[in-house]
Order: sequence, then structure tokens, then C-alpha cells
Amino acid sequence: MAVADIAIARIVAEIAEEMRSHENRGKVATYIPPLAQVPADKFGIAVILHDGTVHAAGDAEEPFSIQSISKVFALTLALGAVGDQLWHRVGREPSGSAFNSIVQLETEHGIPRNPFVNAGAIVLCDVLLGRLQPREAIGQMLRFVRELAGDDGIAIDETVARAELETGFRNMALANYMRAFGNIHGDVGMVLGTYFHFCALAMNCRQLAMAGRYLMGGGQVGGHRVVTEKRARRINALMMSCGHYDNSGDFAYRIGLPGKSGVGGGILAVAPGIASIAVWSPGLNPSGNSHLGQLALERLVQRTGWSVFEPRG
Ligand code: GLU
Repeated sequence: MAVADIAIARIVAEIAEEMRSHENRGKVATYIPPLAQVPADKFGIAVILHDGTVHAAGDAEEPFSIQSISKVFALTLALGAVGDQLWHRVGREPSGSAFNSIVQLETEHGIPRNPFVNAGAIVLCDVLLGRLQPREAIGQMLRFVRELAGDDGIAIDETVARAELETGFRNMALANYMRAFGNIHGDVGMVLGTYFHFCALAMNCRQLAMAGRYLMGGGQVGGHRVVTEKRARRINALMMSCGHYDNSGDFAYRIGLPGKSGVGGGILAVAPGIASIAVWSPGLNPSGNSHLGQLALERLVQRTGWSVFEPRG
């Protein structure tokens, strides 16, 4: 179903209006102290169509902590660094457990289920540090997202990074546990410092949707190739199957788009060949995914027919 540009503008505005006054907003994450300060009444949405048209509404210009959405960019960089060798150290299966679960790591010998759970992303950081110093890896990430978004204003929120360092005991446990299995090669402190800085990237919905365009465009943006078409397809497949922790099946069922959420309340979703979408609302559901963000995406696909499971042609 092709939905005219003007209709998308209306749909986006109406979704933002509905979410603005929605009563059940989920619960803002409190385990990272600065995130607990973010007002639950925020909602932003940005939709970037294949031709570059931007439709945005609500708090689409307000930066938020992208948290685990950074795992998509970290995966892209780690695949760029070591290619398919990565899959010796990280799996490609949905975890069915919480984003910071340690249980599976024991039975699966320190190999995280997928790159989008915390343990998996910590391994991605270790892979990047196989070739770079932490400062260089953080710089590489920052340059990468700035270039993808075409926006040099994107920055890392040092307050969030520091708070995660001070409170990230579960992540420390995950990293040390994997170190014991030989699946973290570098210094655990440096790996975690890099991971926390990635999570602390602050972006707004428009910047995030801009940064996701390469996944909408088969690996390229405006003639510039970021990754191969095959790699873009595979990253999208992982986002569809693993992008929402133990809520991934439900997200695929309700929304049917590759997506990645973060505990800051953001979700990046991709309708391949059609649109790159970012939504943000800080209140989370019990699995740690934005409650209204998911609802907004559900409304969007219902009204546009953008689910990848929608018959085309
Ligand atoms: N920085 C967060 C953590 O490591 C990321 C979690 C998330 O966004 O899912 O716990």
C-alpha cells in the first residue's frame, strides 16, 4: 500500500497528538540515575522517507540517551572490523531473557545469545578494542553516527556515562564472567568504559532516524555505501529477531519491523526501502522497551501498511 506524503504527515501528527495525552505511559528507568530525571510526558517521532522527506512531531528535536540503540551502530562497526569472525564470539538467536541476564551465559559458555543484549554488546566493544584504544573507539563511534546523521551536533552525555560506570554492577558482572570464559580479551574496565560511552550517546528522534537510513536503503544513503546490501539485510534480520530483549517476538507480532530499543525510551525502526523511523517516550514496559514508542509504531504500521509481513506488489 503506497501512502501519499501528505497522508504520512497527517498520520505522524495524529500519532503524536494521541501519545501526548495518553495516560498509561510506562515507567521511566531508574537504575541509571540521570535517566530517572527525564519527565515521562515526553513523546517524539521522526519518519524519514526513502526520498529524504522528514516528518517529525512532538519532542522530535529533544535529545535523549539512546542507550541500547547504540548496539546497532556498534554491531555495524564490529562487523566492519572483523566481518563474520564476529559470530565465533556472539550468537544470532533471540535471548528470551532480560537485557542484562547472566543466566544463559553460564550454560552457553560465555557466548552471548546475540549482539543486542548487554553481554553481546560488551563483546562488540572488546572486538573494537582489539584494534583501537578506548578513546579511539569512542571517537570512531561518534564520527560514525555524526556522519550517518549528517549532524556534528551529536555528543556523548558524560553525566550518563559516569553514572553507568558508578552503578553498572550487573554489566561488570557480565563482562567479568565472559572474561572468565575467555570471551573478553581486553581489560574489563576499558571494555566497559567504551560500552558505557556508546550507551550514553545523546540524539534526538530526527538525528536517530537520519542515522538509520542506511538500514532502510540496503546499506547505502544517497549513493554513499555504508555497508553491503547483504550486511544491511542481516542487521535488519537481527533487529527483527533480537532488538527488543524478551519482548522481541511481541514486537515482531505487533509491529513487524526491524527495530532496536533502549532503556532511555527510544526505538529505531526500519521499513526497508520505505522509511527510517525513530520514536521516543521515556516510560518503559516491564521488558525495558518504550511503552508509548511501541504503541506509536503499532499505530504507524496499521495506518501505512509498512510491516515487512504486508504483501507487496
Ligand atoms: N546502558 C544500559 C545498560 O547497560 C543499556 C540497557 C538498554 O538500553 O537496554 O544497562
